[in-house]
Amino acid sequence: MKVDLHNHTLLCNHATGSVNEYVEAAIACGTEFFGFADHAPMHYDPSYRMRFDQIDLYESWIREASQQYHKQITVLLGYEVDYLPGYMDDLILHRSCDYLIGSVHFIDDWGFDNPEFIGRYAGMDIDDVYRRYFGLVEAMAESGKFDIVGHLDLLKVFKYLPTKDIRLLAKDALKAVKKADMTIEINVSGYRKPIAEAYPSPLLLEEIAEFQIPITFSSDAHRSDQVGLYTAEAEAFARSAGYTECAVYLGRDRKMIKF
Ligand SMILES: [Zn+2]
Ligand SMILES: [Zn+2]
Repeated sequence: MKVDLHNHTLLCNHATGSVNEYVEAAIACGTEFFGFADHAPMHYDPSYRMRFDQIDLYESWIREASQQYHKQITVLLGYEVDYLPGYMDDLILHRSCDYLIGSVHFIDDWGFDNPEFIGRYAGMDIDDVYRRYFGLVEAMAESGKFDIVGHLDLLKVFKYLPTKDIRLLAKDALKAVKKADMTIEINVSGYRKPIAEAYPSPLLLEEIAEFQIPITFSSDAHRSDQVGLYTAEAEAFARSAGYTECAVYLGRDRKMIKF
């Protein structure tokens, strides 16, 4: 991918490899803008994220790599922040960085993308779960705190799919994303999961294109050998919906580049 904005570091406790290994993997596959957006600290689910006292360390790793490799690649500093009312920390929301990705990983207290809690899907009204999920994405966009929507339809990860049209279920969320002038990532980590397709789905990407919402690309790598996987698929997918440009962020300012 020419642009790849959502990648992790070992500070989140469920990724491996050094920052330099990720950056070198990105250079090897021709990436021009490579961003880290590790799971931001919060006082909830702390074992899956960096601690507050590791923020400076995280940022120093990214800044050092950015200087070390600046002739070959632009390395960007971001955070993936959980949209979880009551737990979003101003320290992160006002941090000086390149961008913030807003992600919904929790419906109330349920970490629905965590295989540990997959049992909770059983017996639920899946359409209703989708309504609640996209309601949270809508509120996330309305909060105005974030630049990029993380994995827009993550709820499909384990192949629990709605019976209702996904475009209708997501409509209000997409309207809010458009109004907030956010970008939606094409996140290829879904190819590595049971759903075996990118986030968002083809139907949703058509709808996103209809709304003229900008897109960007993400490996969402948790290991350096996941960097740049599915580049051809991701870019062909975006082109199929009519996109020829994608977004990068520098100091929270969006700039569009051809891919
Ligand atoms: Zn993660
Ligand atoms: Zn995520």
